[in-house]
Amino acid sequence: MAITRRNAVRIVPIKVPDDELRLATAAAVQAPAGARLTYRGGPVIAAVDVFAIFWGHAWLTSPQSGLMASIEDFYRFIVSSAVLRELNEYSAGGTTIATGTYAGSAVLETSHRRTVSDATLRKRLKAEIANNPAFPKPSANTLFMFHLPSGVTAVAGKARSCASFCGYHDAIRKDILYGVLPSPDCTGCLNGMPVLDAITVAASHELCEAVTDPIPGQSWYDDANGEIGDICAWQTKKIGAYTVQLEWSNKANGCV
Ligand SMILES: [Zn+2]
Repeated sequence: MAITRRNAVRIVPIKVPDDELRLATAAAVQAPAGARLTYRGGPVIAAVDVFAIFWGHAWLTSPQSGLMASIEDFYRFIVSSAVLRELNEYSAGGTTIATGTYAGSAVLETSHRRTVSDATLRKRLKAEIANNPAFPKPSANTLFMFHLPSGVTAVAGKARSCASFCGYHDAIRKDILYGVLPSPDCTGCLNGMPVLDAITVAASHELCEAVTDPIPGQSWYDDANGEIGDICAWQTKKIGAYTVQLEWSNKANGCV
């Protein structure tokens, strides 16, 4: 199934992301046997530079504003943490993967609908990059991370957040890399965790996937099991003050 969907990815520009974090299920808490990421020749991110985008006026009011501050603290911490250092084994194509930086954030106050499609989000991201001086000009290291407030559904193809996924990442052409983190408004995305933990688990999943497979399916990938985060979906650990997802290590032959 993954192969069919990946083939579709090459033909259809807007598609169901095959790189999403799916809803938690009992079956998803153990790494599948025989998992192995292989390198497909595409880019990896050398020193990720995360720019967070909080879309919606709701981020400026309590309690979302407190959550926003915590998400920013998480990114500041995670980019220079062991989570990034552990990705070094996936250095490839002449690029060494090292720790990264946090470029800052922007709040997009203009309202959006109750659902935000991937096409709308891409259009908005391109417009902000072109017109908003608060946005960085994307480099090969830049990763835009969209956060949507509670009550807003992300839609990609026919897939909807909280109905089939909890986050995804993708690329516009080959040079604008982004992740999408809807609010975990359902039990399948909370998986029994506090809201912030559910967000940092999904964000760490998408961050590590974006670093090792920024253009989905073109760099480190497992045809049977997907990307680095998919193999270990919903297995978590604590690092510093934060709960993050375990990631697949070829070297360790397990989730670390
Ligand atoms: Zn994933």
